[in-house]
Amino acid sequence: MATMERVFADYNARKAILAKSKHPFADGVAWVAGELVPLHEAKIPLIDQGFLHSDSTYDVPSVWDGLFFRLDDHLERLSLSCTEIRLHLPLPKEGIKKILLDMVSKSGIKDAFVELIVTRGFKGEPEMQLAGTGSAIIARTVRSIPPGSFDPTVKNLQWGDLTRAMFEAQDRDANLTEGSGFNICLVKDGVIYTPDRGVLKGLTRRSVVDVATKNGVEVRVEVVPVEMAYKADEIFMCTTAGGIMPITSLDGQLVKDGKIGPITKKIWDGYWEMHADPAYTIKVDYAT
Ligand code: PLP
Repeated sequence: MATMERVFADYNARKAILAKSKHPFADGVAWVAGELVPLHEAKIPLIDQGFLHSDSTYDVPSVWDGLFFRLDDHLERLSLSCTEIRLHLPLPKEGIKKILLDMVSKSGIKDAFVELIVTRGFKGEPEMQLAGTGSAIIARTVRSIPPGSFDPTVKNLQWGDLTRAMFEAQDRDANLTEGSGFNICLVKDGVIYTPDRGVLKGLTRRSVVDVATKNGVEVRVEVVPVEMAYKADEIFMCTTAGGIMPITSLDGQLVKDGKIGPITKKIWDGYWEMHADPAYTIKVDYAT
């Protein structure tokens, strides 16, 4: 038999033995936070950031005929991936190795792909925002995923760029970055400007347009050059999770006089008025 044929014949023989196994982990096993469970019962919480925002990394070593292949190299790469996105590898590499060897041994599986997933885990709950002031940055080290790669008008969980930009914001001592869960509105000479492309069509922003229109404030949804942010009279961000959020400093410079501007205030008031307006609301009938 040619080598290739022998390799596959041996593999098929091992598969046939495994198929007859009554072992609870013969169909696959997962190690989740210290527990071994059958693969199809493995779960992570819905509010884990790995699920919510793809804030995770992974690596996949293989086992062939009972031997892990290049396991140290895979662990090294996993560790580097974690460092790159500022995730903490929760266990030392040697500890992970022990768990993997034990896990595969307990499954009895001789040929496998072993996926290691590290997620950010839990973050705080969003909170109602008061009309305070915030600072923002224009991200310098991060570019948004181009619309040709993933359509940003689809509300999506691929937050790799946004998460990275948030770290840049933290490093530069600012709260918010462009677009990380927010739409941005600039005010110049009494007109509100907000980008028409490359962004999610936020529903809070739609409310901004409704309030502005009602109050006779012009809104232009068009291409907005970044430089315009530095010349703006007012800036605010808008999102369901935080409402209308005034930005009074940009890249460390005050936006105009650093106070919340009149148009932002008007939009803020109108936005919260809408929350009691039957045209936009549906009453919850609470059981007593
Ligand atoms: N842009 C992005 C990327 C978002 O993820 C969100 C909300 O999560 C928004 C904008 C604001 O959208 P909305 O006002 O509908 O909450």
